[in-house]
Parts: sequence; structure tokens; C-alpha cells
Amino acid sequence: SIPLGYFGGIGLASRNGILFKGSNFLDVITKVNVVVMDKTGTLTKGVFKVQDVVTKDIERDELVKLTATLESNSTHPIAKAVVAYAGDIIKNAKAENVEEISGHGLKGTVDGKSVLAGNVKLLKKFNIDYPKEIETLVDTLVVIAVNDKYSGHITIADEIKEDAKQAIDEMHSLKIQTVMLSGDKQSVVSKVAQALGIENAYGDLLPEGKVEKVQALKNEGKHIAFVGDGVNDAPVVALADAGIAMGGLGSDATIETADVVIQNDQPSKIVMAIKIGKITRRIVW
Ligand code: ADP
Ligand code: MG
Repeated sequence: SIPLGYFGGIGLASRNGILFKGSNFLDVITKVNVVVMDKTGTLTKGVFKVQDVVTKDIERDELVKLTATLESNSTHPIAKAVVAYAGDIIKNAKAENVEEISGHGLKGTVDGKSVLAGNVKLLKKFNIDYPKEIETLVDTLVVIAVNDKYSGHITIADEIKEDAKQAIDEMHSLKIQTVMLSGDKQSVVSKVAQALGIENAYGDLLPEGKVEKVQALKNEGKHIAFVGDGVNDAPVVALADAGIAMGGLGSDATIETADVVIQNDQPSKIVMAIKIGKITRRIVW
């Protein structure tokens, strides 16, 4: 039978928009000593906005049209920003042979031209040269190749969530170690980590890279909570001792796999979930 205190804990959590899928996770979460978080959509808002378009031997509107037409086939938050920015430019265009390459971006044909839109890893994969200085820019980029030639990039930015810094500070005062994992470029990841005071931050990760990092921490005997929102986060959410999903903008796969769902996506609710676990434990034992 489930001790009465657990019902109180689960009820208190749910009134705060924290859904525990089973009473045992109230216990599991109290043992957590490392919180591993995804960046985009977890610590940042996940709503990107286009800042700038840089072209190389192509008209700006043409570059935006080719890129956005291709991106209209993706639900990635980066893709949504590019499509929103393009507006009417893409209304009569259609992409063919579209392939979404996980952790890299998109490949397809638009107006008879082959188009690649994604990160520098995508261009490397297809052996396409690009100006090396773009790697150090501290914005998220969509790098574009048209007919196998670097044709420019679109800089996009996201904002850190209002309560993220406070949440990280509170984790540290609970003696919990913080780690950030992201598929975004290292320069952007380091900037966000520095702003939040997160000591260990790894960028340029493929989905399997996130799994490897969490597995390595588990092998060290750490008790891990992983917090994520994206489709690619589901495997790590499953692997962690406590898998936490941001439920608002989160993908169905991640929400389904999670042990705990945070409905309004606030990082401060991660800390609250841990505190509720600790309070409940005191009542039960
Ligand atoms: P994350 O959610 O941590 O950014 P993803 O695996 O979803 O991880 O994406 C990793 C990276 O792959 C993104 O930061 C981006 O650079 C690139 N990418 C993925 N999908 C797209 C897309 N549709 N358009 C452009 N870039 C993309
Ligand atoms: Mg994500």
C-alpha cells in the first residue's frame, strides 16, 4: 500500500503544475545529485527569432525563399523561426526529396536547386566548405548551401527563461551539480552556461551524444535527473533516474517517457519537485 504522505506530495505537486507519474518518483527525486538539462526549450524559451541574413553570391530574397521553403517541412523551433521570417516569400514554393537529418538539419530540392540548411556539421557531412569564423559567432545559425556551395547563413536568437538563473542557483544551494547538454553550437551553449552559472556545458552533441554523457555520469554512481523537451530527448529522459519533461511545448514522445512532467515549462519547478519530494519523505518516514 502507498503511505498517505505520498498522496499529499503528489497533490501538492500537481497543484503547482508538476505531474508525478507514480509515487516512487517522489523518492527517486530526493536522491538526485546531478541535474542534467537540455538548453533549447528547457533553459531557453525555445522560441527563436531571425536576427540577420548573410549572403554569399546570391540574392537575399532568393536565399530566404530557398531556405524557408525547405524549413517549412520541419517542426524544429529553428525551422519555425525561418518560416515565420520569410512570410509571403514562400507561398508558391515547394520543396521535394526532403530529408531531415537528426541533429544536423535538412536536405532537399527547391526550384530545381539542391539546398542544405542546418548547422556546420551538416555542411561537413557533405564536404562543403564554409567560412571558419562563423563557428565562433555566439548566435544559433542556419548555414545554407545551394548546389553544394556555401551561400550564406541566417542568425537566430533565443532568450533565457526568466526563472532559469534562480533555479540553477537553488540547485547549487541544495548541493546539486548542474550540467547542460545541447545540439546547438558550443559558442552559444557556453554563453548561456556562463549567464546561468552552469559549470559543465556541452554543445554540438548528437542525440546519442547526450545519451553517452548521461550514461557516463550514471557509471560514476551519480543520481541523475534529466530535463528535456525535444523529440531527441526521449532516450535520455528514459535513461535518467528521474526523467523530467517540459510539457508545454514539449514533444509527445518525451512527455510519454517522462517520470515527471512540468506543465508550464518553468525551470524553477524542477527545484520545487525536488523540494516536494524531500518534504514528503520526511512525512512518510
Ligand atoms: P537541440 O534541441 O539541443 O538544439 P536538436 O538535435 O534538435 O538539439 O538539434 C541540434 C542542432 O541541429 C540544432 O541546434 C541545429 O543546429 C540543427 N538542426 C536540427 N534541425 C534543424 C532544422 N530543421 N533547421 C536547421 N537546423 C537544424
Ligand atoms: Mg531541445
